Amino acid sequence: RSTLKIGLIPADGIGHEVIPAAKEAILALGSSIPKPEFFLLDAGFEYFKRKGVALPEETVQVLKNECDCALFGAVSSPSRKVVGYSSPIVALRKELDLYANIRPVIAVAPTPEEKPNVDLVVVRENTECLYVKQEVLTTGKHGKEARATRLITERASRRIGQTAFDIAVGRPRKHLTIIHKSNVLSVTDGLFRETVRGVPALPESAGRLDDVTVAEQLVDSAVYRLFREPQIYDVMVAPNLYGDIISDAAAALVGSLGLIPSINAGDTFVMGEPVHGSAPDIAGKSIANPLAAIRSAALMLRHLGYGDAAARIENAVDIVIRDGRILTPDLGGSAKTQDVTAEVLKRI
Ligand code: NAD
Ligand code: MN
Repeated sequence: RSTLKIGLIPADGIGHEVIPAAKEAILALGSSIPKPEFFLLDAGFEYFKRKGVALPEETVQVLKNECDCALFGAVSSPSRKVVGYSSPIVALRKELDLYANIRPVIAVAPTPEEKPNVDLVVVRENTECLYVKQEVLTTGKHGKEARATRLITERASRRIGQTAFDIAVGRPRKHLTIIHKSNVLSVTDGLFRETVRGVPALPESAGRLDDVTVAEQLVDSAVYRLFREPQIYDVMVAPNLYGDIISDAAAALVGSLGLIPSINAGDTFVMGEPVHGSAPDIAGKSIANPLAAIRSAALMLRHLGYGDAAARIENAVDIVIRDGRILTPDLGGSAKTQDVTAEVLKRI
């Protein structure tokens, strides 16, 4: 590659504040990556209110035909039903077949020599479960009845299982915990659990994953144990909804949702995305923590094979957190988004 073509989709709320920070972090890398070329793209609820569509076809086409990768900010999806609106991030994950949502939750220890007290990766299935959004409302004898389809397929469970085992085998502890609720949902979660368990025995695994120790945990007690003894976890693999919830919960262990990055990864495309939403309570105040978005850029670069560049960004972020003087209010500081970004840029 001579250039790195990056789609930027700030979307809504603080997406517009944190995606520019991630862009600056990439630019600060200079010649250690191919020359970045950015494509600013529309999507989101604000765009929907203006244009009547949440994910314009042009955005999808530019991502598919022009871009090597992308960074997504956050969308404001209203909790009430809005006719014609459907979340563009959920649509993009499906449209680009970004089947794995990989969310590392890693605390920064007081000194680089110490081990962090939280160091885990949530691997979330990203295309099905309740997020297929097949909901119907009918009227029964006793009033309204709402039903949703929860789809779990062997194919999606197998590929997310493969992703999770691959990540686990590359980490020092090589430990994978399968999160499910198959004591109640024995058919759907049962299929997920069994399919993931079967990954090391697949011919394509070729014995490569035999060193990974496998545990499992029901999702409710998994959250309980996550808060009491987070060190028991290394890699956690979960169906879509549980993975969404567990990763937000895990964020509380390290201080703020504003720190947790993710990538949405498929076989041919990767999209970085902070785990947090559009944070309407703080949007427009320039106090959003940009570190989750900046770290998402690093994860995206590592996924594309630019591990050294990613490490430069991640080390710079760690130094700023460890130093503790210039942080946004979610971490107890009084700095602005731009101040924190500037601190990171200086250290890249
Ligand atoms: P949220 O993640 O937006 O905010 C939760 C809390 O964390 C808020 O108090 C917020 O101020 C704080 N927070 C989040 N990111 C922060 C940051 N970078 N810096 C400092 N503080 C931060 O979740 P919510 O309030 O439940 O949802 C708000 C909107 O975001 C909803 O419309 C929801 O649909 C949407 N959402 C979108 C995504 C996405 O785009 N992937 C994910 C989650 C929520
Ligand atoms: Mn979420």
